[in-house]
Amino acid sequence: MKSIFLVFCGRSVIEYFSVIRRIRSTAGQNRKAEDMKIRDILGRGVPTISFEVFPPKTAENYESVKEAAVTIAGLNPAFMSVTYGAGGGTSRYTVDIAAALKEQGVTPLAHLTCVSSTREKVHQVLGELKEKGIENVLALRGDIPADGHVEHDYQYASQLIREIKEAGDFCVGAACYPEGHVESANKADDIRHLKEKVEAGCDFVTTQMFFDNNILYNFLYRVREQGISVPVVAGIMPVTSKSQIKRIGLMSGTELPVRFRALLDRFGDNPAAMKQAGIVYATEQIIDLIANGVNAIHVYTMNKPDVAAKIRADLSEIIP
Ligand SMILES: Cc1cc2nc3c(=O)[nH]c(=O)nc-3n(C[C@H](O)[C@H](O)[C@H](O)COP(=O)(O)OP(=O)(O)OC[C@H]3O[C@@H](n4cnc5c(N)ncnc54)[C@H](O)[C@@H]3O)c2cc1C
Repeated sequence: MKSIFLVFCGRSVIEYFSVIRRIRSTAGQNRKAEDMKIRDILGRGVPTISFEVFPPKTAENYESVKEAAVTIAGLNPAFMSVTYGAGGGTSRYTVDIAAALKEQGVTPLAHLTCVSSTREKVHQVLGELKEKGIENVLALRGDIPADGHVEHDYQYASQLIREIKEAGDFCVGAACYPEGHVESANKADDIRHLKEKVEAGCDFVTTQMFFDNNILYNFLYRVREQGISVPVVAGIMPVTSKSQIKRIGLMSGTELPVRFRALLDRFGDNPAAMKQAGIVYATEQIIDLIANGVNAIHVYTMNKPDVAAKIRADLSEIIP
């Protein structure tokens, strides 16, 4: 744990420890038993920070991923999400890591995708979540695999949302795309489909990453205008390497503002500087969002406790 703070210069290591200790010792936004549903946590209308981790692809990496997740849980987030491997082959790890987070006293949000799953598999996972007392699910369609092979029980996330709601007392979230989903003809269509997810019962939505806050403000205006009133959680990705941004561009088509591209040009070939610049950029995005009334912040940590800790420490007064 110690080493994760040593990489940051500018503030002393001791100072970081004291900030993190204070964050851990605060009563915590997430520690009350009655607040296990994310809609209740978000409903308080105060700034919150939550973190995402992804499960391992193989058993041999399980312990190291769990350790990273548990370390991040020590930063007292409002909740933590655990992604779901496309195809569902690693669903066990999603459930187990979510359960490990719950044991740490952090409200878990388990992702679940459907397009590559049978109805039987989906209900098996829901059964496992219930058994472990995990009450929050982020319901997703999942990407269409490159070979085009899908199961045919589900076509869209809205169908999964309806089914999860019927299956038990789950708080259900869904994905949304401020720049429009890559398969969508236009943003208006995409927002109409988002509304279908809300009508199917989803309690909150989490955004795809974005690097220009004006894109989110415009999206918020448009979704509210369409009568979508559930909380919108802003997904922020701290970009810590040049290779990471190449993968993001290919996957999501997310726009990179000029200001962000300048960082890549200047620091892309200097890993330590790129990491520092990427973390500061993400932190500034979060501060601007909160200043403009967007209270719910979700950080895609990429399983990096040091990145999460740095952001958490630098927001210690803004998100106590
Ligand atoms: C916050 C977040 C978390 C994610 N977590 C994961 C994860 O853990 N695992 C994973 O594999 N992937 C994950 N993804 C990626 C996600 O699975 C993909 O983006 C996927 O392509 C779409 O999923 P969705 O749930 O948004 O789909 P949907 O909401 O079903 O939408 C998919 C497309 O279909 C369109 N559509 C929806 N309904 C209709 C309709 N009735 N008629 C016509 N078109 C329609 C939409 O406009 C959109 O273009 C995540 C994405 C986000 C933003």
